[in-house]
Amino acid sequence: QYVKDPIKFMGLEDLIPMSLNTKRMQLREILDRDVAPLLPEFIEKAQFPREVLGKIKGLFGLSEAKYGCRQVTPREKSIILYELARVDTSLATFYALTMSLVIYTIEALGSEEQKAKYLPGLCNLDLIGCWGLTEPDFGSDASGLQTTATPVDGGFILNGSKRWIGNAIISDIMVIWAKNTKTNKIEGFVIPSKTPGIHVKNIDRKLGLRMVQNGVITLIDVKVPITTRLEKATNFANGVKVVLEHSRVSIAWIATGMLSGVYEASVKHLRERIQFGVPIGAFQLNQEKLVRVLGHFHSCFLLAWRITELQEQGKATSGQAGLVKAITSLIGRDAVRLGREMLGGDGILIDNYVMKALADMEIVYTYEGTYDINALVAGEAITGISAFKSSY
Ligand code: FAD
Repeated sequence: QYVKDPIKFMGLEDLIPMSLNTKRMQLREILDRDVAPLLPEFIEKAQFPREVLGKIKGLFGLSEAKYGCRQVTPREKSIILYELARVDTSLATFYALTMSLVIYTIEALGSEEQKAKYLPGLCNLDLIGCWGLTEPDFGSDASGLQTTATPVDGGFILNGSKRWIGNAIISDIMVIWAKNTKTNKIEGFVIPSKTPGIHVKNIDRKLGLRMVQNGVITLIDVKVPITTRLEKATNFANGVKVVLEHSRVSIAWIATGMLSGVYEASVKHLRERIQFGVPIGAFQLNQEKLVRVLGHFHSCFLLAWRITELQEQGKATSGQAGLVKAITSLIGRDAVRLGREMLGGDGILIDNYVMKALADMEIVYTYEGTYDINALVAGEAITGISAFKSSY
């Protein structure tokens, strides 16, 4: 007898409403049976697994049932992310990017016209979106971005460059953040990817998140109508910040789901692998490492669960989201490394989860604000002192 599913050790499944837990187990079965075996090939080739999308189609939706889309509550979204990440981080990232960046941006900040036009297609995956904030020279310093939106008769002209944008090359629509040259405020636009003047180039040779297609988007005199502007995103705080505060919770769930995958791979290996005539789980050093992985998993799960509850009550703050994103990726990084260690040589194979997770966790640690930046967001909320700018 042993603990196969880490969620069971401290009875964490009791936190999840029964109907949601049932859905979770159904999703797990589909992912384990129909999706996981297909992925290594795409990962090796660094290809987006378009063929797999049909199997996860029903998972997408809005915060309320509208525009013909179903409702996905924060808790359901979290559990879906958890299960996807337990299988693969790229898959979970695709879900987070679609749900928490693209769909959420339009749902929270867009006009009725934009919502009716894009949300149904995004929810049933007829449309794929991307979300462009980061630029070649402005990563952590996102509010300094240089892409411009120049007001002209009936619309705007966009000029600039975006880097690292997930789904860029496969997207049908793009959310682009740019500085309005008249107001000097950062505003958002949702535009078709085929608009003249948009050029996209894939970033190749990535060693993490292999199935996510990240790209560079160049915007040269891209003329867009005024209806493409996200009407509620009137500045950085009302736009980008609102979305990131929301989506950082999703990243915490990705880290948590990954630790579930790491734990499962580790405990299986410790029981099956024989050295010195005994299963390697009989060695004290390995047991201690497994305990650390399970402890880190529980810390992540409980932090992520609590922030999701706060989000559901409309009470989650940016400081809390920053802390949870930072800490889950920090201890997640430690746990993944321990898992890799416990699997020995087998730990470097694509099929054994942990090495892939080790590389992917570096990105979880980095995207949607690095660990440092999220720590500073939380640090400011705690102390009341902003420490982002150096006096250098
Ligand atoms: P930099 O800002 O150059 O930071 C380098 C180092 O300096 C980091 O360790 C950072 O923490 C540290 N640092 C910087 N400023 C400070 C400070 N004030 N105090 C302390 N330390 C500091 N962006 C999008 O818009 N859309 C996407 O879909 C997207 N997907 C991504 C997918 C991947 C695989 C990757 C790698 C990135 C993605 N990003 C995306 C961009 C991501 O959000 C940025 O990479 C991230 O915010 C860090 O920016 P940077 O890479 O420019 O690092």
